Amino acid sequence: MKRVVIIGGGPSGTVCALHLLKNAGAHPPEVIIFDKKPFSHYGPLGCNMCAGLISHTVLETLEALGISVPASVIQRKVKSHFFETRWGGVSFENEPGTTLYTAYRGMGPLDPRGEEGLGFDQFLLSSAVDSGAQHIQEMVSSLELPSNPIKSIRVKYGNNKTIEADVVVVACGVNSDFPRVLKEAGFGYTPPATFHACQAEIPLEEEEVNNWFNNSVKVFSLGLKGISLGAITPKRRFVTVTVLGAHVRRADLERFLLHPTVSRHFPPNWNLPDKYCHCHPKVATSTAKNPVTHKLMVVGDAFISRYLKNGIESALYTGTTAAKAILEGKISREELIQHYVKPCRERYHLDNYYGKLLFKMHDLFARHYWFVVPRLQMVQEEAKKRDWKEKPETQVLWHLFTGSAPYRSILSRALSRSFATSLMREYLNMIKKRLKGKPPSKEQKP
Ligand SMILES: Cc1cc2nc3c(=O)[nH]c(=O)nc-3n(C[C@H](O)[C@H](O)[C@H](O)COP(=O)(O)OP(=O)(O)OC[C@H]3O[C@@H](n4cnc5c(N)ncnc54)[C@H](O)[C@@H]3O)c2cc1C
Repeated sequence: MKRVVIIGGGPSGTVCALHLLKNAGAHPPEVIIFDKKPFSHYGPLGCNMCAGLISHTVLETLEALGISVPASVIQRKVKSHFFETRWGGVSFENEPGTTLYTAYRGMGPLDPRGEEGLGFDQFLLSSAVDSGAQHIQEMVSSLELPSNPIKSIRVKYGNNKTIEADVVVVACGVNSDFPRVLKEAGFGYTPPATFHACQAEIPLEEEEVNNWFNNSVKVFSLGLKGISLGAITPKRRFVTVTVLGAHVRRADLERFLLHPTVSRHFPPNWNLPDKYCHCHPKVATSTAKNPVTHKLMVVGDAFISRYLKNGIESALYTGTTAAKAILEGKISREELIQHYVKPCRERYHLDNYYGKLLFKMHDLFARHYWFVVPRLQMVQEEAKKRDWKEKPETQVLWHLFTGSAPYRSILSRALSRSFATSLMREYLNMIKKRLKGKPPSKEQKP
């Protein structure tokens, strides 16, 4: 195979390119990446719109490809999470041996002060180019699939230009029109279901981020109408506010930010600015159908991603698995199903159902005082223990908020007997305190 065309220069596309170029041996294929996005621009135009929380496993995957993420890409090293509810909050440290980082997916927010450093996606794309990929800064408009599978695929791009490809990797994510184009290409592809998120980059002074966020990601389950989860991710001189919900809009994001339980996490004199950088990206919530045909495979979010968390890691996994299949010459539809689709589905498809169940349970429980308070107390009690293994509830929350373990294992931990026993103990303690007239504190400082 001579030429691989990759449509999309996000994490799945660039890592696929890197794997192809680094592991092909003496005769690497010609790799062409199409992406029109100006990653060197500030604001949503040059950004792949995400909270920018990156797990250490992502950095390790890149290091295995000989790519070391420079300090200029990293905005902050996350030390802990703070979980906030209507009845108080708890802080918990990272799982021992793990590190989380924050980064921008573009150059940074649209703001007169700008933000120094390099975006994660820009860094990945330039690493692929340095390794030998060609980047064409154009949109792909359509694909012409040959009736004879031996022939190449015609890729149409820019202003009526065409290029022939021996293999096509579609890494377009879910935020462009291209999933619809693929659906109409006639090989049976159906894009994943999506819902909207809303994000804002809120400017602060670096000192304020240090003092008020203390390298901690804050996660909010407040039971607010239409908002299933909110999060604040610290950057150097901004914090990224993300709200999730089936139909969230900017008004919901502001309702969330101005809620007293949220706004008290900001400095006392803080006011919501009139203008701030914000975006409405789509979140993939299911698996695409028929993501392959002869010589073509869909990778990243446009195929499958870990439900609500750690999407960059799943993008890297699908991009790498696709590249391996290409290098092994397994590019017929049947071979791709066996060597690409199957391992990706085995890793994420069923597990995402457990994830959906976990987030549903979490959302439901977060609305009820008698569920929330014993869990918070459990985490507070666990904070006194040294051994991570003795912190079942902390583990459940950590893995749920970071997506760093299969959802199935989180669910089985959450349903385990030891977990239920500890929860019951806290529940009984709570009842005892109530009977003694000492209700647990309803207000807690962040
Ligand atoms: C609100 C929100 C917060 C998130 N937070 C996190 C987080 O903190 N951590 C995490 O790990 N994941 C997070 N994710 C998920 C993560 O963003 C995605 O899983 C990841 O970006 C998927 O990578 P991808 O390469 O498949 O697609 P994308 O990153 O979407 O990249 C697709 C690329 O394809 C290009 N493209 C599209 N169509 C065409 C075309 N026709 N021609 C040429 N190029 C094209 C686009 O310009 C884009 O650059 C978040 C997602 C959302 C929506």
